[in-house]
Amino acid sequence: LLGIKSVDQETIKTANKKMIINLLYNKRELTKQQIALETGVSIPTVINNVNELIEEGFVEEAGVAPSSGGRKPIIVSFKPNARYSFGVDITLHDFRIILTNLDSEIVDEVYRKLGDGLTADSVKGINKLLANICAEIEGMINKNQLQRERVLGIGFSVPGTVNEEALVLELAPNLSLKNINFKELSEKLQLPVYIENEANAAAFAELRLGVAKDMRNLVYVSITEGMGTGIVVQDYLYKGKNKRAGEFGHMTIVKDGRGCKCGRKGCWERYASEGALLEAYSHEICKDINLESFFQELAKGQSTAVRLWDEYLDYLAAGLQNIILILDPHYIVIGGPISGYEEFLIKPLREKVFIENSFFSAGDTKIFTAKFQSRASTIGAALLPLQKVFFINQKVL
Ligand SMILES: [Zn+2]
Repeated sequence: LLGIKSVDQETIKTANKKMIINLLYNKRELTKQQIALETGVSIPTVINNVNELIEEGFVEEAGVAPSSGGRKPIIVSFKPNARYSFGVDITLHDFRIILTNLDSEIVDEVYRKLGDGLTADSVKGINKLLANICAEIEGMINKNQLQRERVLGIGFSVPGTVNEEALVLELAPNLSLKNINFKELSEKLQLPVYIENEANAAAFAELRLGVAKDMRNLVYVSITEGMGTGIVVQDYLYKGKNKRAGEFGHMTIVKDGRGCKCGRKGCWERYASEGALLEAYSHEICKDINLESFFQELAKGQSTAVRLWDEYLDYLAAGLQNIILILDPHYIVIGGPISGYEEFLIKPLREKVFIENSFFSAGDTKIFTAKFQSRASTIGAALLPLQKVFFINQKVL
């Protein structure tokens, strides 16, 4: 655990220093006088903290500002490449790893489809997959010539309920997994590891960097192989007593309907996930098809695609109506690969959700697509280690 300890010593602990680096992250460059003014911290303390930040490589002196009489003040500027962070997203079919800097710019990316002996489901499968991910991360560290001290950590996004303090993936029905501990991984890589539910990670990314930057009350609906939601109330992620709030993918939408991997029947994700849509279409045309080809057929007006898409939107809308009735959110953000086909999605979906009813009407809740589409959860995962530098501690209810 030595590596983790030395990395921890690198990170910013005092509130004043954190306040200064947050300010410089937002404003990019300021003089020490301006920093003192904006933070209310005394000039000598600012000077001490800035000197420490320069030593640690987070900021640098970058020229002088015009003088209002006397010596010209020195400009201090933020260095986005001072530290790096990894984000990893694991699904049933693939995994994605991104390397970002402090500005959450993607510096490097690895995307792999599973198969050929590598799977995310079963304990054996996930252990092999995690070993593979470790090897990819080592490869990216070498390729980008990163010093390990400059890597803040690795955030994992997983499709299931997690205990983030204990680093345990508690239950992931689509991966047939229970109680997978990520602690060993941290020891193996000698880097801090964080885990978060996939929809929560995506909601986190959209809140900090994406479409939801100015929003405080929203439900993020992640549509992938399965479905998950991240609930944000007054800027807080609502997780509930047992950290499994937002499992709307498993609310019953059809009584005694299609069987679900969770053991129940008629779950929403069996009708409104990307997996369900492609399964229904593949079944009707008797061959496997991916999302891109489905939308090509839909654009051409192919009759089966048109009919199944309309049915799909009915189910998606029914679930969203339930969510509106339960939570009355200001916004619903739709994420996942399907959100990349906004022109087919948003308008008909709004019409179906806001069909005349006695409770709510169009405009009460705004529905739109996510900024990061299929990368939202990976970007959110990469944000988790940045809490060591910035004030982005996930606020959790
Ligand atoms: Zn289910």
